[in-house]
Amino acid sequence: MRAGEEICWVNPRCGEPGPLPYTDAEITDAENRLRRFAPLILRLFPETAATGGLIESPLTEIPRMRAALREGGLALPGRLFLKRDSELAVAGSVKARGGIYEVLKHTEDLALAHGLLRDTADDYTRLASPAARAFFGNYKMQVGSTGNLGMSIGIMSAALGYRATVHMSADAKDWKKALLRSRGVTVTEYAGDYAKAVKNGRAESAMDPASYFVDDENSKDLFLGYATAARRLKAQLDSLGVAVDEAHPLYVYIPCGVGGAPGGVTYGLKRLFGENVRCFFAEPTMAPCVTLGLLTGEFEKISVQDIGLSGKTQADGLAVGRCSGLVCRAVCRLVNGCATVRDERLPVYQNALWCAEGLFIEPSAAAAFHALAMGAAAPETAAHIVWATGGSLVPDAVRRGMLADAHWEGAR
Ligand SMILES: *Cc1c(COP(=O)(O)O)cnc(C)c1O
Repeated sequence: MRAGEEICWVNPRCGEPGPLPYTDAEITDAENRLRRFAPLILRLFPETAATGGLIESPLTEIPRMRAALREGGLALPGRLFLKRDSELAVAGSVKARGGIYEVLKHTEDLALAHGLLRDTADDYTRLASPAARAFFGNYKMQVGSTGNLGMSIGIMSAALGYRATVHMSADAKDWKKALLRSRGVTVTEYAGDYAKAVKNGRAESAMDPASYFVDDENSKDLFLGYATAARRLKAQLDSLGVAVDEAHPLYVYIPCGVGGAPGGVTYGLKRLFGENVRCFFAEPTMAPCVTLGLLTGEFEKISVQDIGLSGKTQADGLAVGRCSGLVCRAVCRLVNGCATVRDERLPVYQNALWCAEGLFIEPSAAAAFHALAMGAAAPETAAHIVWATGGSLVPDAVRRGMLADAHWEGAR
């Protein structure tokens, strides 16, 4: 890893007994909260009509991509699916799960404390009234982000009437900053990396009693929001007739930044399926903070810069040098393994998926395809899910540039 080379790491602690910090009841509570907010989300974002105001993405089998990978040298036993969080409504990325959940949780707390809602059985569409919006305008939401978390928090906060400030690291793409500003969100830019943007945002928010900071490095609510993906995925697998049991293991591959999204999804899936689901994280060779934290056992105490890596990558959603300690402690016995990927491969996978299936994903999401190699010894009865974590908000011009970049040359 020090040499910036690609590695595969099998977690020797996977399956070890040990305490699990969150209960099933806490995940159920998060699911119920999202259900309570569904009528309001439907009102604010009519594009969620098909799912009744729940923000959820399709699960699609991608046999032509499986064939393309085979041509490139990766013969994957079993079926291959894409979880299309790249098309999640509102935020266009997996951050629509954790980020939006945390904004809604805080909104419910405020609304109940100040009488905007009588109780949790009240009509939540009342929160879209001009009076409610004016009330939320007295409050502020802040977050540090490499881009997508900022978009989920900024877009949802602005839609509810909050003032919102997103502290962006140097890695954040210009179009993400422009989109946020167009929604009335304040974007503060930092020359430094993601950790610096978070640190400054946290400090600025702490000085203002009306401000709430979404803390990507330490947030239980973000984690629980991501974890709600699991039961919804199970329902999708059921309806596609895909069994998950000892004879039919499920392999899941998720791109990883600070660890929250892949960690929360993994946590939820392991609670449901136990050892019959195998979860693998994908990270850039220059920013493998979770792999490093897990394999050294040092968690957030070690950064990729400590081993001489730059932390810089075109996978902007994964450009994180230090993992979340909260997440790594929660999942250190659950993650099956990690794979790191060089940046040059990202447009290749991105382009291959576009050519094979007509589906667009952003570079960060493409990283997950590289981790598929860790499932190459799966049985023929296995199902594999590549978690496509972002893409739909990428502007057309940027998209065309990305797809012109690469042509299919094979998986390895
Ligand atoms: C944020 C993000 C991830 C990883 O999520 P973390 O919680 O930072 O680990 C993966 N892919 C995309 C597109 C993202 O925006």
